[in-house]
Amino acid sequence: MRTEFLSFSPPLIGEEEIEEVVKALRSGWITTGPRVDRFQSEFREFIGAEAALAVNSCTGALHIALAVLGIGPGDRVISTPMTFASTIHVIEHVGAQPVLVDVEPDTLNIDPELVEAAVKADPTIKAIMPVHLYGHPCDMDAILDIARRHGLAVIEDAAHSLPASYRGRMIGAPAGDDVTNLVAFSFYANKNLATGEGGMLTGPQHLIDQARKWSLHGMSRDAHQRYAEEGSWYYEVELPGFKYNMPDVQAAIGIHQLARLPQMQRRRREIVDQYDEGLAGMAGLELPVQRRDVESACHVYAIRLNLERLTINRSRFIAELRQRNIGSSVHFIPIHIHPYYRDKYGFIPDQFPVAYGAYQRLVSLPLSPKFTDGDIADVIEAVGDILDKHTS
Ligand SMILES: *Cc1c(COP(=O)(O)O)cnc(C)c1O
Repeated sequence: MRTEFLSFSPPLIGEEEIEEVVKALRSGWITTGPRVDRFQSEFREFIGAEAALAVNSCTGALHIALAVLGIGPGDRVISTPMTFASTIHVIEHVGAQPVLVDVEPDTLNIDPELVEAAVKADPTIKAIMPVHLYGHPCDMDAILDIARRHGLAVIEDAAHSLPASYRGRMIGAPAGDDVTNLVAFSFYANKNLATGEGGMLTGPQHLIDQARKWSLHGMSRDAHQRYAEEGSWYYEVELPGFKYNMPDVQAAIGIHQLARLPQMQRRRREIVDQYDEGLAGMAGLELPVQRRDVESACHVYAIRLNLERLTINRSRFIAELRQRNIGSSVHFIPIHIHPYYRDKYGFIPDQFPVAYGAYQRLVSLPLSPKFTDGDIADVIEAVGDILDKHTS
């Protein structure tokens, strides 16, 4: 058994990141400035996006996206119960109403057929917010097709899906001129690219220009331009904007995380392959799927327990992993069973039976490009041992 605890998802931070942060601190410019400019443009190029805006979280990026599109009171937005709370919180923040629909049984991504049915029944729906769960892209052809036919915007929660692609198109790259599309990424501490806190919004230039204003008090020029020698003291406030700009200290980390990303992704892919191979055939488990026409970002490796074959429940399984010095997590506790949403909208657990049924069986195994083959072998051995002891 492991003697050292294997934490669930530690970031891989190198000397380049550390040195760049020190340089930023010594430079005299620590908030939004030249390093944010560089990170934004390198990220935009990496994705092949038309434009990109660096912000201080994915939550902020999603909030700005709704504000830019003028979504507010009286409007509704379709999303999934299988996500982190902030995807849905931002809909509440702008005074609109979330409409949740259930997920597909294999990927646990939003089910386009249910989206179609909900849209047909409700002309107040203005946007679809799909979440590429675990890094596996949603069925974007179907979702974009619904959006085009009904004139809806598509705001993607891409917190897990950097880098990922759907039928050869990177998540975050232009979806076509005939649909309004904004995509929000997260650089939170445990995401594939980590700056501690941070996010990016990609989309068409004119919407990202608006988003930039929304991200910093609605001012027409950002602080860097205002205080730089060639700038001036004058600015105008055009919108009641937020304070979501990314500081240069975070961008310093992001620049080198982005350079490291292809290598980190190769390692994530190897680890996923090791899990797939090592866990295959264990009767108490169902392994995550990958559809043929996508590249997953391999952000989370979520197994599902076959509870009918086990003598323990999911909580006990997680406790047994912990006893073997293996960290784990659950992605996600569905939105509709959280007290705020349950009480406000009167949801019952079986409102979304696919999401709720999967939730009770989900366990996310440790995944980080930092892990060695030995770490992964330890996890596989621990899972096998628990299943051996607790299969009925
Ligand atoms: C992490 C996460 C977010 C929020 O990202 P922040 O950068 O922390 O705001 C949103 N949606 C999903 C699915 C996430 O996993």
